Amino acid sequence: MDLWSAGFVYGGAAGMVISISLTLRYYKLSREEGVPLRALLWSTYILTSMSLMYGLALYYLLVRDMYSLFMAILVSNVTMVAWLFLLTERWGSGVVVSNAIGDVVVVSGTIISEVLMGMTYTLYLNPRVNAGAVTLLLSSLNSPWFTVPMTAEALLSYLFVRPRGLFNRLAPLVALMMLFNPVMISGTAWLQTSIYASSILMIIAIVIMLDYLYRKSVVTGYDMITVLGYPIVMALMMILQFYPLLNPTYWLYYGLIVMADMAWYLFLYLHSSDHWSSVAWITRPIPITVTLIAIFVGEIFMGGVLSIMMGFLNTGAFSTLINLNSPLIGLYNIIVFTATLTGSPGFLVMMGAEMGWLVIDRLRTIKNGENRIRYLLMFLAYWLYTFYAPTFLPPSFIKYPYLLWSMGLGTAGPLAPVLVWAIVGTYIINVVLSLLFGSRQLCSITCSASYMWQGTFYNKLKLSPLNPMRHGSKGVMLKLRTYVGVSVYVMLGLLATLSLLDQLGLVHVYVYGEDPLVFLYLLLFGFIWYIFFALAPVLGTYNCVTYGWCHWGLLNQVVGRFGLFKLVVKDPSLCIHCKSKACAYACPVGNTGLPGSFISKGYYKSSLCVGVGDCVEACPYGNIRFYDVRDVLARLPRWARRLQRLQNT
Ligand code: SF4
Ligand code: SF4
Repeated sequence: MDLWSAGFVYGGAAGMVISISLTLRYYKLSREEGVPLRALLWSTYILTSMSLMYGLALYYLLVRDMYSLFMAILVSNVTMVAWLFLLTERWGSGVVVSNAIGDVVVVSGTIISEVLMGMTYTLYLNPRVNAGAVTLLLSSLNSPWFTVPMTAEALLSYLFVRPRGLFNRLAPLVALMMLFNPVMISGTAWLQTSIYASSILMIIAIVIMLDYLYRKSVVTGYDMITVLGYPIVMALMMILQFYPLLNPTYWLYYGLIVMADMAWYLFLYLHSSDHWSSVAWITRPIPITVTLIAIFVGEIFMGGVLSIMMGFLNTGAFSTLINLNSPLIGLYNIIVFTATLTGSPGFLVMMGAEMGWLVIDRLRTIKNGENRIRYLLMFLAYWLYTFYAPTFLPPSFIKYPYLLWSMGLGTAGPLAPVLVWAIVGTYIINVVLSLLFGSRQLCSITCSASYMWQGTFYNKLKLSPLNPMRHGSKGVMLKLRTYVGVSVYVMLGLLATLSLLDQLGLVHVYVYGEDPLVFLYLLLFGFIWYIFFALAPVLGTYNCVTYGWCHWGLLNQVVGRFGLFKLVVKDPSLCIHCKSKACAYACPVGNTGLPGSFISKGYYKSSLCVGVGDCVEACPYGNIRFYDVRDVLARLPRWARRLQRLQNT
């Protein structure tokens, strides 16, 4: 690039960034109940000048003759002088226009001028891109001449006037997400860097949002819009990273999401000083559900992108799964596609990192020592059973129980005859552990679900007014749980038999080429589980337990009911006088009968109790403690002494 070109390109871009950032600052500060027309005119004067300058330069580059050059100079000068004349004549003084009109003008003016600059420089530096207006437009949205100035403007305007509320924390991330456009610079190094960087930024953004909601029970309408809209933008961004990895021609469209990100940034930036009403977000389960669905969709695709980049997923495997031609095959493909991504290492690492922050955050406030230990074990178990064991464990370990079959039949493959005893062993280990420690050994420690339900934000969702276990529908839910559980077990038995017969070569029954037992596992734990997870604000937390479709949890809960685990109170008389009954309100799975049982029996025992210990934390008197095999062992020496004394007498 010669000196003149460098001056034209870099100087022009820098001038544009500073002018637009200052214009945004000026417009934002002029904006109150309405925006003075003169402030809007000054802002649009700058934006229009920029648009004209680059638009007409682009026109000249496309046509390249003296007539177009002459027209470009003429139109540009006449418009700017006429506009300036209006402004110096104090035209429009005292007139106020609505914020909505002003915002649309300023946001579209900013983006149009950026797009025109991107197109101008793209064409100037690479005349071969001139393959049609649409291709030129899409290519320029992917170019650094669009992306970098956008990012710089977002960051500068943020520094000039810091927005309020949640967006104050998110704005720098929203800006940086624009910068990490994987195709802005050609080459594998940038592609990898930008994909990993945008994933990290997205994880940080989600943690910030969920943490913000946890800490502030009452937020503003502006915060609610932020948590609703930003996950949708992030989800689209991840979808637009995933599909180009399957078919690189889709990269052409990535710049569109960068543009949408900037538009969303500008909308939130301009609205941060408006007067918003306050809202207790937990009383709005539907918008929160939409947010969680968007987060979940973004995470699924992010998991896929990371897994492909890390070499764990083969892009060829998706070629048939994106076929939605017939409804039945389409549904099957959606289930397997989702389960493939949710079971992929990239997804599990990402979930582990994201949820981990929320779990650590909760751990810091835990008072009860036993709960602290459980949290640490839960943390360890997530990484061991969910990520390390299925991903890195040598295949030869598949025959050992409790490593790859930790969610029962179908977890790690068809029911091959050679594995029958290993799987039976896994069941025996679980049954014994549940008899000794209660079903919490699974549902509150080793199952990855506990890790996901027990973080700060997700635990708070148990207070949702729609949680069916918190009000009158509890009885219906418990009946439903029985019916669902029985149906799932019948299906499990049938499909396990088919799987075994398939493996023995006696029958040939497959679901679109997939082993029926494995398909059931994918359906339950790779698909339905995550849908229920995202629907927690309307279905309640720990809905795998309360709806009874997790056969693995159900088995352990039923067995645990006959085991040693229970909750005991140190002093039942405290419960008689206790006004708060905080233990019953704290339980995420609807064990509302705790106080009554404590008063009448001194303990509480139920198959529904999965030992999360929220009641232990909530009791204002520290009255509840866990009882399990350790208590029995502690009493053994006393029994032995008593026995000896009896023998001696
Ligand atoms: S019910 Fe199933 S999915 Fe839910 S926590 Fe227990 S084992 Fe995990
Ligand atoms: S266990 Fe604690 S919170 Fe529950 S009723 Fe008794 S004293 Fe109250």
